[in-house]
Amino acid sequence: MIRHHPEDALMLAYAAGQLPAGPAIVVASHIERCPHCCQRLQAFEAWGGALLETAEPAVLQPEALARTLAAIEAQDASPRPPRVASPARAPRPALPPGVRWPQALRGCTVAPWRWVGPGMHWSRVTVPHAPDSNLFLLRMAAGKKLPVHSHSDLEMTQVLYGSFHDGRQHYGAGDFDGADDTVHHQPVVSGDGVCICLASVQGSLLPAGRIARVIGRLVGL
Ligand SMILES: [Zn+2]
Repeated sequence: MIRHHPEDALMLAYAAGQLPAGPAIVVASHIERCPHCCQRLQAFEAWGGALLETAEPAVLQPEALARTLAAIEAQDASPRPPRVASPARAPRPALPPGVRWPQALRGCTVAPWRWVGPGMHWSRVTVPHAPDSNLFLLRMAAGKKLPVHSHSDLEMTQVLYGSFHDGRQHYGAGDFDGADDTVHHQPVVSGDGVCICLASVQGSLLPAGRIARVIGRLVGL
């Protein structure tokens, strides 16, 4: 059962296409497995459409349509670059049996698991149209805890498998967590299995200790 969902303001920003690529992918990966948020998204999109219909019409420059059509024609007429076979995509790291990759990661490159500490592995997710996004997967063994940390901006997490507790709430598979600069937390994997999360960090992590700083450097945050 999914208990934690993105806030209304976040859903509205997502519906309006205003989120940067990393957070948008984490929110999309939640929506695609949460029927409740699928419905919320439809409502926000309908609301946005209604707002557009009631907005004051904007006056365009007299030649705007002709110039746009000419630009499209010019693009069609320009010689197309030769097709280059795309390099074979490296296989994605293994997930536990029965766990599917979020469709929101379609087109993204997912690096192999990299060791960052006992029982902790990390994988960089590269978004083709936004390669600077701080988007990654974290896989932690049962009972493992992240060092206490805060964030200079927003950290978003979608639980893909397993569960964790961060001292505030318990998050299970399908749950979403958004933590801003007011939150100091220490996620600890609960249960007796591994926990895998997809996370996006805007800004940087603010580690509260030496181990956290070492891990932050290892993962480039
Ligand atoms: Zn939801």
